[in-house]
Amino acid sequence: MPPDRRADRQAALRSGLAAEGLDALLVTHLPNVRYLTGFTGSAALLVIHAEATVLVTDFRYAVQAPAEAGQAAAVEVDQKSVWDRLGRVLGDLGVTGALGVEGHALTVRDAERVGTLTRARVVPTAEQVERLRAIKSPEEVSAIRAAADLAQDALAEVLPTVRAGQSEREIAAALEGALRRGGSEWHPFPTIVASGPRSALPHARTSARTVGRGEWLLIDFGAQVDGYCADLTRTVVVGARADDRQRAMYELVRNAQQRALEHLRPGMTGREGDALAREVIAARGFGDAFGHSLGHGLGLEVHEAPRLAPTAEGVLPAHAVVTVEPGVYFPGWGGVRLEDDVHLGPDGPERLSDGRTELVELA
Ligand code: ZN
Ligand code: ZN
Repeated sequence: MPPDRRADRQAALRSGLAAEGLDALLVTHLPNVRYLTGFTGSAALLVIHAEATVLVTDFRYAVQAPAEAGQAAAVEVDQKSVWDRLGRVLGDLGVTGALGVEGHALTVRDAERVGTLTRARVVPTAEQVERLRAIKSPEEVSAIRAAADLAQDALAEVLPTVRAGQSEREIAAALEGALRRGGSEWHPFPTIVASGPRSALPHARTSARTVGRGEWLLIDFGAQVDGYCADLTRTVVVGARADDRQRAMYELVRNAQQRALEHLRPGMTGREGDALAREVIAARGFGDAFGHSLGHGLGLEVHEAPRLAPTAEGVLPAHAVVTVEPGVYFPGWGGVRLEDDVHLGPDGPERLSDGRTELVELA
């Protein structure tokens, strides 16, 4: 059995609350609820208080919630209104001073509703749980590695079957089938299969377009194991050898990615990490073609802290897991992106995905 970290996570959160003068924190962002209690359902109001951890859920989860939370939370199931029950829980706990809520996750309407349920002042907080989640335990790193392995295996199965004339959707369907058969719990985000000029759309939606000979095919996809996500991108040429421009742009992106994968370290800021790759692309005059940030944290969510971006002044903590995904995009011509997942160990970066990015030219 892997160690149960939930009590330690809650303790870390509690000491943060005390430091900020909060009586309790209401956690409503579901990945945070899962991280702190193990509960995976879709209805959850979690109160973290100095003396107690109480999870309020509804009838649908009467069996599942206590089974998943175990000792990590006292579960209260309400048949009528989870909000009214929350009000009673807060009253019973004597929360009368300041109640933190997750400012990034609670709607304005729900924040107002909480205000009517408690005498306490409702105080928005900024990503208290997310800060803890940014630092991964060995088991979390293993789960992300398992998800990356699974994603790579699925791609290795499908890529040799890809031919010019297939539609993006057909290719996505084959890949998604292989992911599910391989054990992925779900697709952490909609699979992107973008061909030809559509590969220049960094967030393309997989379409009915068929892939032409000699075109780029960009595939950005994920897998999920024990709730943890991997996120990979590969760009290949279909049905022909790459031409000179394709080869040059591919090598540029690959060199930029290699530099970041080798030199990314905890203690850098997200901006410094981003610059490792951005400088390589900018030095060749293509800085404007790399219009997104270099990477993002991975975990229970596919986009989480920390960020690698020109505007990210936060320091990258040891044991963060991030993507490294430089790209260049030229409207009308296409784009190249390569994405791998890396654990920022104290002694340096450890690749969780294979980083096998030699240019692939499918027959
Ligand atoms: Zn991706
Ligand atoms: Zn990504």
